[in-house]
Amino acid sequence: PPELSARAVGLKPSLTLAIGAQAKALQQAGRDICSLSAGEPDFDTPDFIVEATRQALRDGITRYGPAAGDPELRAAVAEKLSSGNGIAITPEQVLITNGGKQAIYNLFQVLLNPDDEVLLPAPYWLSYPEMAALAGAKVKLIPTQAEEGFRLDLAAVEAAISPRSRLLLLNSPGNPTGRVMKRQELEDVAELVRRHPQLLVMSDEIYEFLLAEGEQHHSFAAIAPDLADRCFTVNGFAKGWAMTGWRLGYLAGHQDVIKAAAALQSQSTSNVCSFAQRGALAAIQGPRACVSAMAESYNRRRQLLTEGLQAIEGITLVEPRGAFYAFPQLPESAGGSMDFCSRALEQAGLAVVPGLAFGNDRCIRLSCAVSRETIRDGLSRLTQLLDET
Ligand code: PLP
Repeated sequence: PPELSARAVGLKPSLTLAIGAQAKALQQAGRDICSLSAGEPDFDTPDFIVEATRQALRDGITRYGPAAGDPELRAAVAEKLSSGNGIAITPEQVLITNGGKQAIYNLFQVLLNPDDEVLLPAPYWLSYPEMAALAGAKVKLIPTQAEEGFRLDLAAVEAAISPRSRLLLLNSPGNPTGRVMKRQELEDVAELVRRHPQLLVMSDEIYEFLLAEGEQHHSFAAIAPDLADRCFTVNGFAKGWAMTGWRLGYLAGHQDVIKAAAALQSQSTSNVCSFAQRGALAAIQGPRACVSAMAESYNRRRQLLTEGLQAIEGITLVEPRGAFYAFPQLPESAGGSMDFCSRALEQAGLAVVPGLAFGNDRCIRLSCAVSRETIRDGLSRLTQLLDET
């Protein structure tokens, strides 16, 4: 076969997508499979968004558009970030991307040089390290512990910083832990960033609307307006509005960086699907009741999953307070997470994602964006499997 580029060698396909596909294939082959591996809402996209998109198609919004995004959508995103998140952003500081994923990919491509360091708290969302590697950057992990509630240890961040440290990644509410960073914690991070002028921050806030009762979302860039030039906010429509397949996200930050990322986009993918952007415009300008209703539904199911996991002996669970995952740490006897998840699938027909993919080999990730019966079934299969190990 043709030799692959150095860049492509060792590039791992997304494990979460792979496990979901494997579970589906086994199901189609007739096996009784219970899958808690999903990384996406189990709702359909709200109707008014679909309708606005249909109308856009009928109106002939089917041609190339500006690479950086539909000007109206960029303005609406800037308005949402300013009034909703408290980040002073102009439309020129917004890039519309193919999902949050492309926002992150583009940002890394235009900011990072080979051997620049990306500081990444672990557990982390599994695409960050691969995208950093694609930019030639080095990842420095900052491990956090289940026993400490996965709290970010700022002394450890400080100790990891070198003159080559370029970008600190934040993700709250977090995938896979469901952890929500408090205001004070973000203020402390901002204080640290002020002490290191070479350091930029990317805050991935894609789960901002999915919060347990009593939790509040804080945008990092709003907490530290004096750091506006050094903060980049990533977000998207996939999780809040149940629009994963639409591929709609955005990046906001310094205008020059947005310009560079738009140039990259103009030479690679061009504009995001033009009529899909009209759907995004309807979503962002429309009533939020649909978002709150879905968030409440995840809250009830997250609670069911949390209580079920807390009742299993030997499991250490940091209670998830946002997103739609739980990331329990298994007893030592369960062994490594890859082996455990293979056994779970083969012996118990239970599809869950190994923590190793997220930088923690003692944990597994379970989704609550499935039916209550599936959650109960998954919990009982997990309990039985742990009893047998
Ligand atoms: N960031 C986090 C933390 C995620 O979990 C995901 C999706 O799983 C994304 C970004 C990317 O989402 P999308 O590209 O579908 O907008």
